[in-house]
Amino acid sequence: MLNRFKKILSVLRIFRSLKVQLFLVLVLIGSLPPMLLRHEILRSYEDRAVSVRVLDVQNQFKILADHLITYDYLRDTSSETINTELEQLSNLYDGRVLVIDKNFRIIKDTYGIAEGKTIVSKEVLEAFRGIGTYNYDKSNAYIEITTPIGLTATTANNSILDAMATTVAPDEVTLADGVLLTSVSTDTIITTMEILSDNSAMYLLTIFAFLLALSLFLCTIMTSPFDRLTQAVKGMKEGFIEEPIAIRDYTETEHVVDAFNQVLGRMQALDKSRQEFVANVSHELKTPITSMKVLADSLVGQDNVPVELYQEFMTDITGEIDRESKIIDDLLSLVKMDKTEAKLVINKIDINQLLEILMKRLRPIARRGNVELTLECIRDVEADIDEVKLSLAISNLVENAIKYNKEGGWVKVTLDADHMYFTVVVEDSGWGIPEDSLHYIYERFYRVDKSHSREIGGTGLGLAIAKNAVMLHKGTIQVESVVGEGSTFTVKIPIKYVEQEEFKA
Ligand code: ADP
Repeated sequence: MLNRFKKILSVLRIFRSLKVQLFLVLVLIGSLPPMLLRHEILRSYEDRAVSVRVLDVQNQFKILADHLITYDYLRDTSSETINTELEQLSNLYDGRVLVIDKNFRIIKDTYGIAEGKTIVSKEVLEAFRGIGTYNYDKSNAYIEITTPIGLTATTANNSILDAMATTVAPDEVTLADGVLLTSVSTDTIITTMEILSDNSAMYLLTIFAFLLALSLFLCTIMTSPFDRLTQAVKGMKEGFIEEPIAIRDYTETEHVVDAFNQVLGRMQALDKSRQEFVANVSHELKTPITSMKVLADSLVGQDNVPVELYQEFMTDITGEIDRESKIIDDLLSLVKMDKTEAKLVINKIDINQLLEILMKRLRPIARRGNVELTLECIRDVEADIDEVKLSLAISNLVENAIKYNKEGGWVKVTLDADHMYFTVVVEDSGWGIPEDSLHYIYERFYRVDKSHSREIGGTGLGLAIAKNAVMLHKGTIQVESVVGEGSTFTVKIPIKYVEQEEFKA
């Protein structure tokens, strides 16, 4: 039972295919008009053939009716001429002729079986009123036609009027003297129709076969861009296609392809930046090790090395170890920041207090560089932040402001807020950043002056960490700088943290 159900489902799934749907629509739209046309042609042929036959028979029988009057056949049916004529007409139309008199009595039946019997029907009564009728009985393949014989004025107490249940003034009515009731076979019409029907069915079948082939061809052509698109995506998945896809047959495929190429571009850029990052990390981690190796080798390679030289080289090696460990610390911080915002530990924090603590920690570094460090809080701010991550971001900015400053320079940190955001501005009187470098300073391992930055203990990761931390808080970071005059970093963070499902930094 379950298997059968699954089978049915898998068959039904075929109809979800665009190709199948298109094929069915084309076949349906293509086959309907010829089918309707065939039906219409057959129907109008039948109508036309029947009405021509009726007209023909009515004309013949009108002449016959006149002859009947001439020969007074209604009173005396012995006339050979009329009987022969009746037989001839009955043979000609492959049918039966009844002659009915005023009393509804059949006075002549060409089949010879109903003579003397009485017949009253709606059509016969109509004919007595002078109206010839016809009735096409399709299932029994004959047409029944009535023809009035002669018309004379009649009196009120007439049996015909009684049968009609009509009461009229005697001198107002003209009634027929008799009625000719003829059954005409429509076999010839039906045979012609059958031939027509068979022939048209053959044409229809040919058209249908052609239509199937054409529809199959058309829907294969029309859906081919989608097949090519699937192939291209598959090729990309398997790794042997790396160029952007170019299938621009339809606006729809163009949109899909554009969106796909954008995703591909992003993935390639990500992959490139990942490779660059790995290369940079290896390089940065190797540099202190190489220095240490050179220092250690030169000590090992000399005999009787003076203690002072040992001390000097060991101090250098310690410095390199510190550098290595700083790079590893920064890398770990960056990796933590790279993860999703779910990793944020949000608490309501007094930002003024947080900045005071940071200043206290950084003041000794500033003092060592002979830089004056001040904090100005324009407003008291409490905000939803991850204390550890945001502290790291701000202290990186302030450390940079101290590091890249002049002897006797200053660093000013300002806290302000409006009803939605708080801003921390870190301003310095330092070297400034060249305009063409402003674009890159947030990139990992980017340094304006590589050797100098390294000398003063830079890893090139500080601003990348700061930016990631700010982005995780859904904030912004901006910089303005003039070489030789100083730089201003402005961090803007929402006071209320609103979690969003798919927010990505
Ligand atoms: P680093 O560890 O080298 O300081 P960062 O990512 O913190 O790395 O900074 C990147 C580069 O931007 C620095 O090497 C420095 O050249 C420049 N920079 C950052 N902050 C400042 C600043 N306040 N004044 C001048 N240059 C700066």
